[in-house]
Amino acid sequence: MSSVSEFPLSQLIRNMQESATIKMAQVARDLRAQGHDVISLSVGEPDFDTPQHIKEAAKKALDDGFTHYTPVPGLLELRQAIVHKFKRDNNLEFETSQIVVSNGAKQSIANVCLSLLDDGDEVIIFTPYWVSYTEIVKMARGVPVQITAGIEQDYKVSADQLSAAINDKTKIVLFSSPCNPTGSVYQFDELQAIVNVLAQHPNIIVVSDEIYEYINFTDKHVSIGTFEVVKDRTVTVNGFSKGFAMTGWRLGYIGAPKWIAAACSKVQGQFTSGATCFGQKAAAYALTADQSATAEMRAAFLRRRDLVIDLLNQIPGVKTNKPEGAFYIFPDISNFFGKSDGNQTIESADDFSEFILHHAHVAMVSGTPFGAPNCVRISYAAADEVLVEAMTRMKNALAKLS
Ligand code: PMP
Ligand code: GLU
Repeated sequence: MSSVSEFPLSQLIRNMQESATIKMAQVARDLRAQGHDVISLSVGEPDFDTPQHIKEAAKKALDDGFTHYTPVPGLLELRQAIVHKFKRDNNLEFETSQIVVSNGAKQSIANVCLSLLDDGDEVIIFTPYWVSYTEIVKMARGVPVQITAGIEQDYKVSADQLSAAINDKTKIVLFSSPCNPTGSVYQFDELQAIVNVLAQHPNIIVVSDEIYEYINFTDKHVSIGTFEVVKDRTVTVNGFSKGFAMTGWRLGYIGAPKWIAAACSKVQGQFTSGATCFGQKAAAYALTADQSATAEMRAAFLRRRDLVIDLLNQIPGVKTNKPEGAFYIFPDISNFFGKSDGNQTIESADDFSEFILHHAHVAMVSGTPFGAPNCVRISYAAADEVLVEAMTRMKNALAKLS
């Protein structure tokens, strides 16, 4: 009898890494199901529930019969709300034909890569990067090219680094700000310097992932698409998962040049036909209704950032910076490499996160799949008392290493 393992999987799937964030969240769930008291600071997901008024809008949409296919790029009403939002919040001008709503920003990015990349086209990815970028690029037959910034650069790459990485094959520059996994936010001057480099390379498309826009602790979120030089070749990615605590709704979107938006619609018309109808109605409402729930969540994240940094700074050997957005802290833990508790020696960030999982019952994600093998990612989207408990456990576990 033949076994399943004899069936050959595609090269594409064999070359693909499993999502490390999603995997770690599942490991934490499994351990909890076995009765272990695991605190999960792994997956990047607001611990808040979707605000009530948005849920009510979805219920009403269901009752009103919004249960059918929508136009592939999204309900006109939602695309109009997104056009309005881009103008209101980002000073970006779009028409509805430039908006494509998808099943999450993850799919938005996949649509863009599938629409633009040919075999061997290079995508410059600011590193540390969100785990899915490299895998999506590879799925679209592109080649991820990492340019890396360590903690001493606040994890932000410089214009010189970008300039040195560009060549004839460069098709896309892809980054997130506020950044997952570092929480770094590119300021106006830093974006200006990047734009100055891109001015010399008119064929490069910028993909700016702004999904953490509303969780930004600086004075202002700046969209790179507002710079004249790149405005007609920037795809601005955003979504509802983070700012509105709507991860499970699977709703993201792009504002893009018309030709890219049309290509993304074409891809999506073959893959998913578009996002859930009643969810889109509620999303349109989320963008236009009172935004105070988003502001309250942001304030809570800011308080927790300070709390966790303060606690991490009390752990000898853990190096932190001060992230200015999102809900992650990305400490450099390389001081622990070579240390041992007598049984296990920590050789890598993977070893470190595994040690903390088993000795502190706290789940975090190794920096390796984010392109940062000296770091770990801690998501502080959890209640204050949970964060205090997690940091205490971590400190006690690390004290066993010498
Ligand atoms: N971009 C970044 C930087 C993210 O952290 C995530 C994870 N949620 C996404 C895109 C995808 O978000 P979603 O698919 O939930 O809209
Ligand atoms: N983006 C979140 C994270 O980084 C959610 C999980 C995922 O899609 O990667 O944890």
